[in-house]
Amino acid sequence: MPNETPHSQPEPPSRGKIIAVVNQKGGVGKTTTAINLAAALALELLPTLLVDCDPQANSTGGVGLSRREDRASTYNVLVDGISAADAVLPTPVEHLSVLPASRHLIGANFELAAQEDREFRLRNALEPLRSTYRFILLDCPPSLDLLTLNALCAADGLLVPMQAEYFALEGISELMSTLDRVVAGLNPTLGLEGVLLTMFDPRTSLSQQVADNLKSFFGDKLFSTSIPRNIRLAEAPSHGLPVILYDPRSRGAEAYQELAREILKRNGVESPRAAQFAADRKSKKAEVRFWPYNR
Ligand code: ATP
Ligand code: MG
Repeated sequence: MPNETPHSQPEPPSRGKIIAVVNQKGGVGKTTTAINLAAALALELLPTLLVDCDPQANSTGGVGLSRREDRASTYNVLVDGISAADAVLPTPVEHLSVLPASRHLIGANFELAAQEDREFRLRNALEPLRSTYRFILLDCPPSLDLLTLNALCAADGLLVPMQAEYFALEGISELMSTLDRVVAGLNPTLGLEGVLLTMFDPRTSLSQQVADNLKSFFGDKLFSTSIPRNIRLAEAPSHGLPVILYDPRSRGAEAYQELAREILKRNGVESPRAAQFAADRKSKKAEVRFWPYNR
């Protein structure tokens, strides 16, 4: 079990990017993506925060935290106005922290309804954390409720996972028009970070057909990386681990690392891990070159 003090973080970024993982359709891979993308970004040595905005608290459990109702959570941040930094906990992955959810969050929809700044609670709470984390990922519930609206108002970009199945595009026009309305009225700088094909099985013609449909609908906004259907991804949460710790060599782990690299490239962010790796190789090469002269 993680202890209760957050990991020490590497170099603080100037301004972290907030990405909301959203799709009002249930079971499309939002939580799996939020957990494993966050872990993959942390593996690149980028300080990352996973914010669980879903009363189901699956992201919280998926990074090894037990379901406890007595600790500070996203609910207390949104409803009681406690500082987000005070509710953040470490995870088994170095450089990855989590703001846990609790079941009380179900009530937040009603409790916030009468508040004037109800859509901006999360945005205001996360603003001070942008200088601590390079990426902040928001795992949203499967509905377009006030919790999701808070995530849309807090985010810079939306990441929309879509399952490779026949009804993949169902409900997507509602999501896109919600995005347009949020941009027009509440968060003008919100953009579509990308659409991610999940549970992809290249052997089936249906998966391929869905991929083609999404490509023609979303163009460049469809990530080149797709996430394969992989049993390791489904097993990892029951061990309280992201897949890169549960089975680092699995296809699921590789796919989420590839997605992390694609997102870094799209955002022009250099991976400190890649930079360190390149520097190590360079110094090794130099060692080999001079080695005969050292004898
Ligand atoms: P909800 O809408 O309930 O929050 P969700 O969109 O967060 O669901 P997940 O919980 O991530 O979806 O995934 C739904 C189920 O599918 C889970 O049991 C998960 O383990 C499984 N799953 C997700 N992605 C994959 C994958 N690529 N391969 C195999 N199983 C997967
Ligand atoms: Mg979920």
